[in-house]
Amino acid sequence: MRTKIVAGNWKMNKTLSEAQALTTQVLGLCSAEVSAPVKVILCVPYPYLPVLTPQVKHSKVDIGAQNCSEHDAGAYTGEVSAAMLKSMNVPYVILGHSERRQYFHETGKLLAAKVDRALAHQLIPIFCCGESLDIREKGTHESLVRQQVEEALFHLSAEVISKIVVAYEPVWAIGTGKTATTQQAQDMHAVIRKQLVGKYGDAVAQAIPILYGGSVKPDNAKELFSCPDVDGGLVGGASLKARDFVDIVKCA
Ligand code: PEP
Repeated sequence: MRTKIVAGNWKMNKTLSEAQALTTQVLGLCSAEVSAPVKVILCVPYPYLPVLTPQVKHSKVDIGAQNCSEHDAGAYTGEVSAAMLKSMNVPYVILGHSERRQYFHETGKLLAAKVDRALAHQLIPIFCCGESLDIREKGTHESLVRQQVEEALFHLSAEVISKIVVAYEPVWAIGTGKTATTQQAQDMHAVIRKQLVGKYGDAVAQAIPILYGGSVKPDNAKELFSCPDVDGGLVGGASLKARDFVDIVKCA
């Protein structure tokens, strides 16, 4: 049985004091109301990592970053390396979010390098994949997502890929209020699982968590998380409100 995971992606939101208050609220609600063995992760802006990581120590909540560099160190102004994240005891990092693919032109080749840097520093990548609306309408979404997974992950050994988390996030459902139906989510998660079975075998593929992301809310999370291949969620907008986020966690 795969442990369910609910990760919040705060994106570029909250001031420092708001971030601390939100974390306090999430910790309080989680400890009072969450008894199931679900893993909860808050992926927060870089500057808050060294503040929030000690704040969640000894709790059910882990902290993650939202990106890292493909380089280890050097003259890359504004970038943050996986080694830096590791040095702040950050265990998770989102890689390949569609906003980074779209606005920062991140390619499969670049993401393969970022995945390698993260893993080399014992960070767990939450690797995002997903198709845009025009690809979904053309009917080529399955092959596009398979290509994204293959390009960024299939150079990894079976032992190493077992450490990662995949998040399927249809771009047309991110921040739009439009959610994939349970059937659409389950179908794509099954496609990814089958692809992983084909490359790495059943035991490895069955152990890799595949999260769904795209307008997950308290009122649709239960249904989505009940799909056999949906192992939890990556939550954007609803992770900015402690009540909504923890209500989603309780659905896992
Ligand atoms: C996301 O940004 O990863 C996301 C899923 O956002 P939202 O939940 O707001 O659609």
